Amino acid sequence: MQTPTQKATLWTIFLTLTVTYTFVFVAKVVYAERTPRTSSDNFPPLECAISPFGFTPDWGSMDNLEKLSRSFCHIDPKEFIPPPPYDITALKTPLEELNHEPKTQVQKNILTMKLFYSTRHFGIYDLDSDEYVTPDHPGIDFKMPAGTLVYAIAGGIVNSVEQKNEGLGNTIILEHRLPDTREKVYSIYGHLSHTLVHPGESVSPGSLIGTVGTTGNTSAPHLHLQIDRDRGLIRHIPYIPAPGITVEQANRWTIHPMEFIENY
Ligand SMILES: [Zn+2]
Repeated sequence: MQTPTQKATLWTIFLTLTVTYTFVFVAKVVYAERTPRTSSDNFPPLECAISPFGFTPDWGSMDNLEKLSRSFCHIDPKEFIPPPPYDITALKTPLEELNHEPKTQVQKNILTMKLFYSTRHFGIYDLDSDEYVTPDHPGIDFKMPAGTLVYAIAGGIVNSVEQKNEGLGNTIILEHRLPDTREKVYSIYGHLSHTLVHPGESVSPGSLIGTVGTTGNTSAPHLHLQIDRDRGLIRHIPYIPAPGITVEQANRWTIHPMEFIENY
């Protein structure tokens, strides 16, 4: 038998615990309401998209293969110039029209542009190629010296980092959200020598992510930049058009990298 005093004590403990648990429960609900519930609510913004490089070697002023093949640390800072605009009309200027010595400054500028954007969006591996001519290359190749620092073109989250020696070689994939539609898109950086970020990290436009290399299926240092639309995969894989696909069909799954940089 419990005495009235013991009963009162037990009731007091019971009521105190009940009030405490109720308070904690209500506090948790209120806190959860005030905190973003899904990761997309606080996804890093795209901000202002930029070129993956702040400069390019002035390729058009280099008159021999040895100079053109130097790595980043062997090129004098004075030999770099701001990245040229992507002008497809100028890019299609036949190489043989530019290879006469002495070259004018205009010819040197066009040569630098042709080498910087060495493979155009859906272009063939030819410095005179137009864009949208073959489904085989959904992206742009930038000829850059081995070891050049590569920057994120927009804000987002590192989706994956892969080290491999076939296809695109060492590859970084960044996930982004388009500002108006919240559409999920991915920027892909291939053939890197070093990768300097890890999956899950946030990046801003201009965050250092890696260095230019020759890993994977390539014979010369360059960056392959590709921008994919989401195909609903749990882990994104760079888009490679299946055999028989037309350029128009392939184009639905990618965004022209230079138009992306200009538009956002
Ligand atoms: Zn490429």
